[in-house]
Amino acid sequence: MSYLFTSFSGWKSYVNEHSLTLPESVLEYEMNQKGGEKEEILSGILRAYEVMKDAVTTGLEEEMTSRSGMINNGAKKVFNNPLTVLSPEFQKLISRALAAKEVNSCMGRVVAAPTAGASGILPGTLVSLQEIHSLKDEAIVEGLLVGAGIALIIEEKASLAGAVGGCQAETGSAAAMASGAIVYCLGGNIDQIFNAVAITIQCMLGLVCDPVAGLVEVPCVVRNASAASIAFSSAQIALSDVSAVIPVDECVEAMGEIGSSMESRYKETAMGGLAATLTGQEISKRVLIQDIEILPDSLQE
Ligand code: SF4
Repeated sequence: MSYLFTSFSGWKSYVNEHSLTLPESVLEYEMNQKGGEKEEILSGILRAYEVMKDAVTTGLEEEMTSRSGMINNGAKKVFNNPLTVLSPEFQKLISRALAAKEVNSCMGRVVAAPTAGASGILPGTLVSLQEIHSLKDEAIVEGLLVGAGIALIIEEKASLAGAVGGCQAETGSAAAMASGAIVYCLGGNIDQIFNAVAITIQCMLGLVCDPVAGLVEVPCVVRNASAASIAFSSAQIALSDVSAVIPVDECVEAMGEIGSSMESRYKETAMGGLAATLTGQEISKRVLIQDIEILPDSLQE
Protein backbone atom coordinates (compact mmCIF):
# COMPACT_ATOMS: atom_id res chain seq x y z
CA MET A 1 0.00 0.00 0.00
CA SER A 2 1.40 3.37 -0.96
CA TYR A 3 0.78 6.79 0.55
CA LEU A 4 -2.42 8.45 -0.74
CA PHE A 5 -1.35 12.09 -0.65
CA THR A 6 -3.96 13.51 1.68
CA SER A 7 -1.73 15.87 3.69
CA PHE A 8 1.84 17.15 3.82
CA SER A 9 2.25 16.03 7.44
CA GLY A 10 1.11 12.52 6.46
CA TRP A 11 3.46 12.50 3.45
CA LYS A 12 6.42 13.45 5.67
CA SER A 13 5.55 10.74 8.26
CA TYR A 14 5.16 8.14 5.52
CA VAL A 15 8.53 8.77 3.85
CA ASN A 16 10.28 8.87 7.23
CA GLU A 17 8.66 5.62 8.39
CA HIS A 18 9.45 3.83 5.12
CA SER A 19 12.90 5.38 4.56
CA LEU A 20 11.88 6.77 1.18
CA THR A 21 12.71 10.03 -0.54
CA LEU A 22 9.82 12.26 -1.63
CA PRO A 23 10.20 11.32 -5.32
CA GLU A 24 10.43 7.62 -4.47
CA SER A 25 7.10 7.82 -2.63
CA VAL A 26 5.43 9.50 -5.65
CA LEU A 27 6.87 6.83 -7.95
CA GLU A 28 5.54 4.12 -5.62
CA TYR A 29 2.09 5.77 -5.69
CA GLU A 30 2.13 5.97 -9.48
CA MET A 31 3.10 2.30 -9.81
CA ASN A 32 0.47 1.15 -7.29
CA GLN A 33 -2.39 3.31 -8.52
CA LYS A 34 -1.87 3.18 -12.25
CA GLY A 35 0.46 0.29 -12.92
CA GLY A 36 3.57 0.58 -15.05
CA GLU A 37 7.24 0.05 -14.38
CA LYS A 38 9.52 2.54 -12.72
CA GLU A 39 11.65 3.09 -15.83
CA GLU A 40 8.57 3.61 -17.98
CA ILE A 41 7.21 6.26 -15.59
CA LEU A 42 10.55 8.05 -15.38
CA SER A 43 10.97 8.11 -19.14
CA GLY A 44 7.41 9.48 -19.47
CA ILE A 45 8.28 12.34 -17.12
CA LEU A 46 11.50 12.98 -19.02
CA ARG A 47 9.47 13.20 -22.24
CA ALA A 48 7.15 15.70 -20.56
CA TYR A 49 10.17 17.77 -19.53
CA GLU A 50 11.42 17.71 -23.15
CA VAL A 51 8.04 19.11 -24.24
CA MET A 52 8.39 21.84 -21.60
CA LYS A 53 11.86 22.74 -22.91
CA ASP A 54 10.57 22.77 -26.50
CA ALA A 55 7.73 25.10 -25.49
CA VAL A 56 10.26 27.56 -24.00
CA THR A 57 12.36 27.48 -27.19
CA THR A 58 9.33 27.76 -29.46
CA GLY A 59 7.95 30.72 -27.54
CA LEU A 60 11.29 32.52 -27.73
CA GLU A 61 12.05 31.76 -31.37
CA GLU A 62 8.82 31.49 -33.32
CA GLU A 63 6.00 33.88 -34.17
CA MET A 64 3.65 34.04 -31.19
CA THR A 65 0.53 36.04 -31.98
CA SER A 66 -2.77 34.65 -30.76
CA ARG A 67 -5.88 34.80 -32.93
CA SER A 68 -7.41 37.47 -30.69
CA GLY A 69 -4.22 39.55 -31.02
CA MET A 70 -3.97 39.98 -27.25
CA ILE A 71 -0.81 37.88 -27.16
CA ASN A 72 1.88 39.29 -29.43
CA ASN A 73 5.44 37.98 -28.98
CA GLY A 74 5.76 39.29 -25.42
CA ALA A 75 8.36 36.73 -24.32
CA LYS A 76 10.82 37.73 -27.07
CA LYS A 77 10.35 41.42 -26.24
CA VAL A 78 11.22 40.79 -22.58
CA PHE A 79 14.11 38.45 -23.43
CA ASN A 80 15.72 40.94 -25.83
CA ASN A 81 15.11 44.16 -23.94
CA PRO A 82 18.50 45.74 -23.08
CA LEU A 83 16.84 47.99 -20.50
CA THR A 84 16.26 45.78 -17.50
CA VAL A 85 15.45 46.07 -13.82
CA LEU A 86 16.27 42.39 -13.32
CA SER A 87 19.43 40.28 -13.19
CA PRO A 88 20.13 38.43 -16.47
CA GLU A 89 19.00 35.15 -14.85
CA PHE A 90 15.78 36.70 -13.63
CA GLN A 91 15.08 38.28 -17.01
CA LYS A 92 15.46 34.83 -18.60
CA LEU A 93 13.18 33.25 -15.97
CA ILE A 94 10.39 35.71 -16.73
CA SER A 95 10.89 35.40 -20.50
CA ARG A 96 10.79 31.59 -20.39
CA ALA A 97 7.61 31.45 -18.31
CA LEU A 98 5.98 33.90 -20.73
CA ALA A 99 7.32 31.94 -23.72
CA ALA A 100 5.91 28.53 -22.75
CA LYS A 101 2.54 30.04 -21.81
CA GLU A 102 2.37 32.01 -25.07
CA VAL A 103 2.78 28.72 -26.92
CA ASN A 104 -0.34 27.50 -25.12
CA SER A 105 -2.27 30.69 -25.95
CA CYS A 106 -1.25 30.25 -29.60
CA MET A 107 -2.50 26.65 -29.57
CA GLY A 108 0.93 25.02 -29.51
CA ARG A 109 2.06 21.95 -27.58
CA VAL A 110 2.57 22.31 -23.82
CA VAL A 111 2.43 20.16 -20.71
CA ALA A 112 -0.66 21.04 -18.67
CA ALA A 113 1.11 20.80 -15.32
CA PRO A 114 -1.12 21.16 -13.48
CA THR A 115 -3.31 22.95 -16.10
CA ALA A 116 -2.87 24.55 -19.52
CA GLY A 117 -3.52 27.98 -17.99
CA ALA A 118 -0.49 27.54 -15.75
CA SER A 119 1.67 25.75 -18.32
CA GLY A 120 4.49 28.31 -18.38
CA ILE A 121 5.45 28.15 -14.71
CA LEU A 122 7.19 24.77 -14.41
CA PRO A 123 9.01 25.16 -17.76
CA GLY A 124 10.17 28.68 -16.92
CA THR A 125 11.39 27.84 -13.44
CA LEU A 126 12.91 24.43 -14.12
CA VAL A 127 14.73 25.35 -17.33
CA SER A 128 16.18 28.38 -15.53
CA LEU A 129 17.10 26.36 -12.43
CA GLN A 130 18.79 23.73 -14.59
CA GLU A 131 20.83 26.37 -16.40
CA ILE A 132 21.86 28.29 -13.26
CA HIS A 133 22.94 25.16 -11.35
CA SER A 134 24.02 22.92 -14.27
CA LEU A 135 21.61 20.19 -13.15
CA LYS A 136 21.13 16.94 -15.04
CA ASP A 137 17.73 16.12 -16.56
CA GLU A 138 17.43 13.27 -14.02
CA ALA A 139 17.51 15.76 -11.15
CA ILE A 140 14.75 17.81 -12.78
CA VAL A 141 12.69 14.63 -13.26
CA GLU A 142 12.94 13.98 -9.50
CA GLY A 143 11.90 17.60 -8.89
CA LEU A 144 8.87 17.05 -11.13
CA LEU A 145 7.93 14.00 -9.07
CA VAL A 146 8.04 16.15 -5.93
CA GLY A 147 5.86 18.71 -7.74
CA ALA A 148 3.40 15.97 -8.64
CA GLY A 149 3.09 14.95 -4.97
CA ILE A 150 2.44 18.57 -4.01
CA ALA A 151 -0.27 18.84 -6.69
CA LEU A 152 -1.94 15.61 -5.54
CA ILE A 153 -2.38 17.02 -2.02
CA ILE A 154 -3.62 20.43 -3.23
CA GLU A 155 -6.11 18.69 -5.51
CA GLU A 156 -7.31 16.58 -2.58
CA LYS A 157 -7.63 19.45 -0.09
CA ALA A 158 -8.43 22.44 -2.33
CA SER A 159 -8.39 22.40 -6.14
CA LEU A 160 -6.14 22.79 -9.16
CA ALA A 161 -8.87 24.28 -11.37
CA GLY A 162 -9.64 27.96 -11.92
CA ALA A 163 -13.30 27.06 -12.40
CA VAL A 164 -13.37 25.64 -8.87
CA GLY A 165 -10.91 27.69 -6.86
CA GLY A 166 -9.95 30.74 -8.92
CA CYS A 167 -6.50 31.47 -10.34
CA GLN A 168 -4.86 30.75 -6.96
CA ALA A 169 -5.73 27.10 -7.69
CA GLU A 170 -4.07 27.13 -11.14
CA THR A 171 -1.10 29.48 -11.17
CA GLY A 172 -0.83 29.28 -7.37
CA SER A 173 -0.60 25.49 -7.41
CA ALA A 174 1.89 25.50 -10.29
CA ALA A 175 4.06 27.97 -8.38
CA ALA A 176 3.83 25.78 -5.26
CA MET A 177 4.88 22.74 -7.31
CA ALA A 178 7.78 24.70 -8.78
CA SER A 179 9.06 26.11 -5.48
CA GLY A 180 8.97 22.66 -3.84
CA ALA A 181 10.79 21.19 -6.83
CA ILE A 182 13.44 23.94 -6.74
CA VAL A 183 14.16 23.41 -3.03
CA TYR A 184 14.31 19.64 -3.55
CA CYS A 185 16.71 19.98 -6.51
CA LEU A 186 18.99 22.23 -4.49
CA GLY A 187 19.24 19.68 -1.67
CA GLY A 188 16.72 21.18 0.75
CA ASN A 189 15.23 18.94 3.42
CA ILE A 190 11.55 18.00 3.66
CA ASP A 191 10.71 20.83 6.06
CA GLN A 192 12.32 23.36 3.74
CA ILE A 193 10.50 21.91 0.72
CA PHE A 194 7.11 22.05 2.43
CA ASN A 195 7.88 25.49 3.85
CA ALA A 196 8.51 26.70 0.28
CA VAL A 197 5.09 25.38 -0.70
CA ALA A 198 3.48 27.16 2.27
CA ILE A 199 5.20 30.48 1.46
CA THR A 200 4.20 30.23 -2.19
CA ILE A 201 0.56 29.54 -1.35
CA GLN A 202 0.56 32.47 1.06
CA CYS A 203 1.72 34.72 -1.78
CA MET A 204 -0.89 33.46 -4.24
CA LEU A 205 -3.98 33.21 -2.00
CA GLY A 206 -7.14 34.92 -3.19
CA LEU A 207 -6.18 35.33 -6.85
CA VAL A 208 -9.34 35.28 -8.95
CA CYS A 209 -9.85 33.73 -12.38
CA ASP A 210 -11.02 36.47 -14.76
CA PRO A 211 -9.85 35.68 -18.31
CA VAL A 212 -10.71 38.41 -20.82
CA ALA A 213 -13.17 37.11 -23.44
CA GLY A 214 -12.92 33.71 -21.78
CA LEU A 215 -9.60 33.16 -23.54
CA VAL A 216 -6.64 31.85 -21.56
CA GLU A 217 -4.49 34.82 -22.58
CA VAL A 218 -5.04 37.95 -20.45
CA PRO A 219 -4.17 37.99 -17.57
CA CYS A 220 -3.06 34.34 -17.72
CA VAL A 221 0.22 34.83 -19.61
CA VAL A 222 1.61 37.55 -17.34
CA ARG A 223 0.44 35.66 -14.27
CA ASN A 224 2.65 32.76 -15.34
CA ALA A 225 5.63 35.13 -15.19
CA SER A 226 4.71 36.53 -11.77
CA ALA A 227 3.99 33.04 -10.39
CA ALA A 228 7.42 31.86 -11.63
CA SER A 229 9.08 34.74 -9.79
CA ILE A 230 7.10 33.95 -6.64
CA ALA A 231 8.26 30.32 -6.91
CA PHE A 232 11.86 31.50 -7.02
CA SER A 233 11.48 34.00 -4.16
CA SER A 234 9.63 31.45 -1.99
CA ALA A 235 12.33 28.83 -2.61
CA GLN A 236 15.02 31.33 -1.66
CA ILE A 237 13.17 32.26 1.55
CA ALA A 238 12.60 28.60 2.48
CA LEU A 239 16.21 27.62 1.76
CA SER A 240 17.22 30.36 4.21
CA ASP A 241 15.08 28.70 6.92
CA VAL A 242 12.63 31.57 7.21
CA SER A 243 9.42 30.02 8.49
CA ALA A 244 6.04 30.44 6.81
CA VAL A 245 4.63 30.34 10.39
CA ILE A 246 1.32 28.87 9.19
CA PRO A 247 1.95 25.15 8.44
CA VAL A 248 1.61 24.07 4.82
CA ASP A 249 -1.49 21.91 5.41
CA GLU A 250 -3.27 24.89 6.94
CA CYS A 251 -2.22 27.08 4.01
CA VAL A 252 -3.80 24.56 1.62
CA GLU A 253 -6.96 24.51 3.75
CA ALA A 254 -7.07 28.32 3.52
CA MET A 255 -6.77 28.06 -0.26
CA GLY A 256 -9.72 25.65 -0.32
CA GLU A 257 -11.81 27.84 1.98
CA ILE A 258 -11.14 30.97 -0.10
CA GLY A 259 -11.87 29.08 -3.33
CA SER A 260 -15.18 27.73 -2.10
CA SER A 261 -16.36 31.15 -0.90
CA MET A 262 -15.29 32.93 -4.11
CA GLU A 263 -18.21 34.17 -6.23
CA SER A 264 -18.76 32.29 -9.47
CA ARG A 265 -18.00 35.43 -11.55
CA TYR A 266 -14.38 34.99 -10.42
CA LYS A 267 -14.15 31.36 -11.45
CA GLU A 268 -13.46 31.20 -15.20
CA THR A 269 -16.90 32.50 -16.18
CA ALA A 270 -15.37 35.70 -17.65
CA MET A 271 -18.06 37.72 -15.84
CA GLY A 272 -15.94 39.51 -13.24
CA GLY A 273 -12.64 41.23 -12.64
CA LEU A 274 -10.60 42.07 -15.76
CA ALA A 275 -13.08 40.27 -18.02
CA ALA A 276 -15.84 42.64 -16.86
CA THR A 277 -13.92 45.87 -17.51
CA LEU A 278 -15.01 48.13 -20.39
CA THR A 279 -12.01 47.08 -22.48
CA GLY A 280 -12.48 43.44 -21.52
CA GLN A 281 -16.10 43.59 -22.70
CA GLU A 282 -15.13 45.29 -25.99
CA ILE A 283 -12.52 42.62 -26.68
CA SER A 284 -15.06 39.95 -25.85
CA LYS A 285 -17.51 41.36 -28.45
CA ARG A 286 -14.77 41.60 -31.09
CA VAL A 287 -13.68 38.00 -30.49
CA LEU A 288 -17.30 36.85 -30.75
CA ILE A 289 -17.71 38.69 -34.09
CA GLN A 290 -14.43 37.12 -35.35
CA ASP A 291 -15.77 33.70 -34.42
CA ILE A 292 -19.06 34.31 -36.27
CA GLU A 293 -17.19 35.57 -39.36
CA ILE A 294 -15.18 32.38 -39.69
CA LEU A 295 -18.25 30.15 -39.35
CA PRO A 296 -19.43 28.58 -42.64
CA ASP A 297 -22.35 30.52 -44.21
CA SER A 298 -24.76 27.68 -43.50
CA LEU A 299 -24.15 28.06 -39.75
CA GLN A 300 -24.52 31.84 -39.81
CA GLU A 301 -28.13 31.78 -41.00
S1 SF4 B 1 -7.03 33.58 -14.95
FE1 SF4 B 1 -8.20 31.67 -14.98
S2 SF4 B 1 -7.88 30.80 -17.03
FE2 SF4 B 1 -6.25 32.34 -16.64
S3 SF4 B 1 -4.54 31.16 -15.76
FE3 SF4 B 1 -5.72 31.97 -14.06
S4 SF4 B 1 -7.13 30.27 -13.58
FE4 SF4 B 1 -6.35 29.86 -15.63
